[in-house]
Amino acid sequence: MQKTTIAYIGLGSNLSNPRLQISKAADEISQIKAGNVIALSALYLSKPMGPQDQDDYINAVIAIETTLPALELLDALQAIENAAGRVRKDNRWGARILDCDILLFGNESIENERLTVPHYGMKIREFVLLPLAEIAPTLHLPDGTSISSLASEINSNGIVKLSLLK
Ligand code: ATP
Ligand code: MG
Ligand code: MG
Repeated sequence: MQKTTIAYIGLGSNLSNPRLQISKAADEISQIKAGNVIALSALYLSKPMGPQDQDDYINAVIAIETTLPALELLDALQAIENAAGRVRKDNRWGARILDCDILLFGNESIENERLTVPHYGMKIREFVLLPLAEIAPTLHLPDGTSISSLASEINSNGIVKLSLLK
């Protein structure tokens, strides 16, 4: 039997109809071979990080159960980003059509040239912690930190959880 891992992926977009980009990305992630979606958060409207001369973001977190190794999951996610039309520019944290970051990969800590897991920024990003705590309230980081307690302590920075109708 192949090993199955639950991975949490953070999604973000602030270009070209961000809500549509996130729902398309969730659909494409559901079609990754060797994976099943097990949860999808609501959409959240958040303020940009870094350069402020860009639109607000739509964010969500999706959980999948997969038999892929972490680097192959990253390959699949980067292919989805590229297919959405993501262009990598020099300006860090600039506007983007789609960002798919691996937040957690089971209880693994991974550190190599292409991948740092848990994602290095997740403990201090409200647009990651709030949707993640929504779908996985009892989850912990590999170091034992509770996601729900991080989410309840973080400055919300004006984030808004969107209802289906808004
Ligand atoms: P940030 O990483 O601060 O959220 P970003 O998502 O905009 O910024 P990207 O341009 O999407 O950064 O990714 C840059 C590189 O980060 C990728 O080429 C990838 O190899 C690497 N990377 C390291 N750890 C991860 C991870 N956990 N998930 C996704 N990419 C990662
Ligand atoms: Mg990112
Ligand atoms: Mg990224």
